[in-house]
Amino acid sequence: PGEAHYIGRFAPSPTGRLHAGSLVAAVASYLDARAHGGRWLVRIEDVDEARSAPGAADAVLDLLRQLGMHRDGEVMWQSRRGALYQAAFEHLREASYPCGCNRREIADSRLGTAPDGSAVYPGTCRQGLGAGKAMRSLRLRVPAPGEDLVRFVDRFAGPVLHYLARDAGDFVLRRADGYWAYQLAVVVDDAAQGVTDVVRGADLLDSTPRQIYLQRLLGVPTPRYLHVPVLRNEHGEKLSKQTGACAVTPQGEAEAVAALLAAARSLGLPLDTAAREPCRSLAAFWPAAIGAWASLLAAHGETL
Ligand code: GLU
Repeated sequence: PGEAHYIGRFAPSPTGRLHAGSLVAAVASYLDARAHGGRWLVRIEDVDEARSAPGAADAVLDLLRQLGMHRDGEVMWQSRRGALYQAAFEHLREASYPCGCNRREIADSRLGTAPDGSAVYPGTCRQGLGAGKAMRSLRLRVPAPGEDLVRFVDRFAGPVLHYLARDAGDFVLRRADGYWAYQLAVVVDDAAQGVTDVVRGADLLDSTPRQIYLQRLLGVPTPRYLHVPVLRNEHGEKLSKQTGACAVTPQGEAEAVAALLAAARSLGLPLDTAAREPCRSLAAFWPAAIGAWASLLAAHGETL
């Protein structure tokens, strides 16, 4: 019998094909959903249409099919949901303000960088756009230091403390190029899809407090979070297109299973030893992997 209420999702940005690192996030979210008897949704995060590579979304969907990862329901496309992001923004308008600063001006204020690499915003335009400045982005006002703590318990990382004012600053809801920011779109969509469990790469751990803050302002529930370790290359860099990670393009079932076994191994699933016979087919791999994930949860009490 499955858990009455578990909805998970995989939400790739179609900037290119999946590489071994993004496959780990996909596999983790799939296994967690299936081990809970839950639903697993796929959402294409193409809100930033300029960065979406032609054909990349279809390639991702084809790969998931080829790997035997069957989604529940229709694919959601962020590029078609602008009206919903606009509507959510209307609820936040009071707490937001137009900002005319460019990247260089913000970096020059040297307040440091948020963990995701963006410079912490010094609040220059909080009291209004300076003379002669044109609006570029829309920012959300975060609470003053002392009232800005967001804490949550990640299922892998444990308790996380984040001070919004110090660690992120007033953050962007609509970007200078006119696209809605990832932070807003992801919160609107996770809520709209009733997502109860977010399982994704640890590179997004630092975004989670901003998302939780937005959930509170919008009056929507906060899901549980599980951030799995990201894969790194031999230079210690996170695998990504920028660091030259190659696409996962298995030819045939044996290579598909090999790619999945590599992902499972990097998640710490003891598949090779646990299975009496090595998994050679997708039909053998998935039940074994789901079973191994469920045992891991049982042994560690939902945290990994
Ligand atoms: N679209 C994001 C990415 O590919 C993931 C968003 C999420 O899982 O919340 O990095």
